Amino acid sequence: TKLRVGLLFGGRSGEHEVSISSARAIARALNVEENAHKYEILSFYIQKNGCWLGGELAQQILETGIPQLETQNLNPWRLPDQVTEVDVWIPILHGPNGEDGTIQGLLTLMQVPFVGSGVLGSAVGMDKIAMKMAFEQAGLPQVKYKALTRAEVWSNPCVFPKLCDEIESALDYPCFVKPANLGSSVGIAKVRSRSELEAALDNAATYDRRIIVEAGVVAREVECAVLGNDQTKASIVGEITFHSDFYDYETKYTVGKADLLIPAPIPDGVSRQIQDMALQAFAAVDAAGLARVDFFFVEATGEVLINEINTFPGFTATSMYPQLWAYSGIPFAELVDRLIQLALERYKV
Ligand code: ADP
Ligand code: MG
Ligand code: MG
Repeated sequence: TKLRVGLLFGGRSGEHEVSISSARAIARALNVEENAHKYEILSFYIQKNGCWLGGELAQQILETGIPQLETQNLNPWRLPDQVTEVDVWIPILHGPNGEDGTIQGLLTLMQVPFVGSGVLGSAVGMDKIAMKMAFEQAGLPQVKYKALTRAEVWSNPCVFPKLCDEIESALDYPCFVKPANLGSSVGIAKVRSRSELEAALDNAATYDRRIIVEAGVVAREVECAVLGNDQTKASIVGEITFHSDFYDYETKYTVGKADLLIPAPIPDGVSRQIQDMALQAFAAVDAAGLARVDFFFVEATGEVLINEINTFPGFTATSMYPQLWAYSGIPFAELVDRLIQLALERYKV
């Protein structure tokens, strides 16, 4: 009998459409001959309002790639009947309410294995402040930063200037203001002056209770894929190149605005250092199954700084994570098979 794989996609985050693309690529991989005799797909679509659709409706969205606009189900707790038939889940969700431990908590309570990190790894990986604290403990080099809360930013007008003074004395311009718990560069601003800093803090506070300000670096952006549970492997390192000011939302999702270079044209020693750091970062946040770890390579000094970990990175046919593994000798379909096997392995122990 075939293992029934629950593909969970869509979701309440800004990465809803990317999630659908990733899910379609994974569905195609499950339908190739080597996998089709082992696995059967059950589709579950989380609408933008957070309510789930299963069965035919979800299957249709997976096939067409067109998001469902009508709301057939208006209760986020009313899960489709087919949920009880799933043997293993793939929560193909990026960003808040998907990659951050919330769905992982629900699946843990269901007592069914799932692909990727558990509650802790997902939550720590998603929150840039918690993530940086974990990396710091692991001795991983990173940019200087300052953590703030919405309450501080929106505090009375006498406190706010002091907060900005503190940031200015700790970090130079340009610096990056970010909501702590988002992805795809949403809400991120590169600021070069006091007035830009003030505006960016106010804007970031509309997205998240937790905010981080980081010293800006001039660096190349390189990424490494990790696969495994307790025994992890690092892929070949890849680089992202683009012409915009930084790797913002538009650059990420407009075809032709960014290029992936695999392998990254960097010295072998630097690649090895990055692979080593990627494995350490994976362990530091308690990730499982998969993660993409992103770095800054400061060519001027030869320094490598860790930027972030993404516990469910983009997984479309052209995304960095599967491409890095393809170049490292694991084709897409085999990668999906391995991830499912890792989910089962982790659940057993
Ligand atoms: P996300 O999780 O949304 O991808 P990142 O922290 O990776 O957020 O930031 C998005 C992009 O912003 C990075 O890929 C990089 O181009 C730029 N960036 C972020 N932080 C810095 C920094 N400290 N110095 C230079 N560039 C940065
Ligand atoms: Mg991220
Ligand atoms: Mg990033």
